[in-house]
Amino acid sequence: MSDRRDIATLLAAVLPDSDGAVTPPIVQTSLFTFDSYKSFEDRMAGRSDSAIYTRVENPTVAAFEKLMAEAEQGEAAVGFASGMAAISSTLLAFVKPGDRIACVEHVYPDTFRFLERMLRPFGVHIEYHAPERFVDDPELLADVTLAYLESPGSLVFEAIDLRRAAEHAKRHNVLTMVDNSWASPVFQRPLTLGIDIVIHSASKYISGHSDTVAGVVVASLDHIARIRDLTLPLLGAKLAPFEAFLLTRGLRTLHARMMQHQAAANMFVDRLAAIPQVRQVNSPGANDAPGLTGRSGLMSIEFDDSVDIAKFSDALNLFRLGVSWGGFESLILPARVGLAQAGEQNSMQKFGVSPNLVRLNLGLESADDLWADFTSALAKSTA
Ligand SMILES: *Cc1c(COP(=O)(O)O)cnc(C)c1O
Repeated sequence: MSDRRDIATLLAAVLPDSDGAVTPPIVQTSLFTFDSYKSFEDRMAGRSDSAIYTRVENPTVAAFEKLMAEAEQGEAAVGFASGMAAISSTLLAFVKPGDRIACVEHVYPDTFRFLERMLRPFGVHIEYHAPERFVDDPELLADVTLAYLESPGSLVFEAIDLRRAAEHAKRHNVLTMVDNSWASPVFQRPLTLGIDIVIHSASKYISGHSDTVAGVVVASLDHIARIRDLTLPLLGAKLAPFEAFLLTRGLRTLHARMMQHQAAANMFVDRLAAIPQVRQVNSPGANDAPGLTGRSGLMSIEFDDSVDIAKFSDALNLFRLGVSWGGFESLILPARVGLAQAGEQNSMQKFGVSPNLVRLNLGLESADDLWADFTSALAKSTA
C-alpha cells in the first residue's frame, strides 16, 4: 500500500503465504468444498471468508491481484477476463441511466464503442473533450458523474496532468477513472496523483509475452468491494487461474522490460528528429506530465506525403503488421487500416487522425536492429 520500496523491488517480492514456493500454485478448480455443514453455513452467512467458487474468488487470481494492487499503490485490485471486461464491468458498477460521463477524445476504440453502443442506449449521457480541457477548464465536470481518462490517449498519445484533472474532479464530486495500460505502473501510478480507479488491459505490458488476454482494476477497498459485489459476479467476466499465473509471471519482469522499451524508444525519438520524412513524433516521456516518469515503447509517427505507407509497412522485416502491443515483438499499425474499418464509426474516424500516422510498438529486439529495419524500409518507400 504505502510501501516506499522501489517498484522494481515490489514486483520481485516473493508472495508471503506461499509455503516457500516463489511462484503461486495454479489452483485449477471451479469450486471449493467445506468440511462441515457449520463451516458452509458460516461462510454463506459472511462469518468466514474462504473461497466458494472461482467466478468470485480464486487463490491464483488473488495472488496476482495482490501484487497488482501493490504495484499501483492501491488498496485492492480485481482481475478480469480482458481489458474490455475490466472497463465495462467498472463503468456498469458506477453509472446509471441519466448519469453523465465525460470522456477523453481518442479513447481506445472499443471503449468508445462500449460507451456509444451499450451505455448510451441505456440512457447514460456521454460527452467527449480534448484531453487538455480536463486540466484547463475547472468547470468542465460541473454536472458530470464520472470522468474517463486515458493518459496518454490511444494512437495520438497526449499525456494529461492527472493531478490537476483529479483536483477539478474532486471539487465536483466526480469519480475519476484512468486507463493506465500505456505507462504501466512502472512509469505512472495514477492513484498516487488523486485518481480514484485505475484500469489496465493486462494483455499488453503486464503480460508482456503476447500470450494472454486479461484486465485488472485497482482502487480503494470500497470501490473494489462494489465491483466484487455487483459486476464481477453478475456479469461473470472473471480472470482465469492460468491467465492470472501468467500475469504474475509477467509482473516479475515488467520493470526490466519497461527499461528496455524505454531505451529503444528514447533512441528512436532522438534519431527521428533528423529524418526529413517525419512530420511529427507522438511519444511522451518522463516529466511530459506530472507523475509520468518514463517513455514506453508504444509511439506514433506522422510521415509527410512522400512516404508510401503500404510500401513502408511491407518493407519492414522486424516490425510485423498487427493489432495489440506491449509484447516482446515489434509491431506496426498504420492509422489508414483503422480508418478503413467497416461497420460502426470508431473513435479514430470520429475524432480524426492523420492518414499518414503509423503506430509503432518497439519490442525487445536490439534497438539498433529495429532502427536499421526502420530506415531501410523508409528508403524503399519514399518517392
Ligand atoms: C488493448 C487495450 C484495451 C482493451 O484491452 P483488451 O485486453 O484487449 O480487452 C483497453 N485500453 C487500451 C489502451 C488498450 O490498448
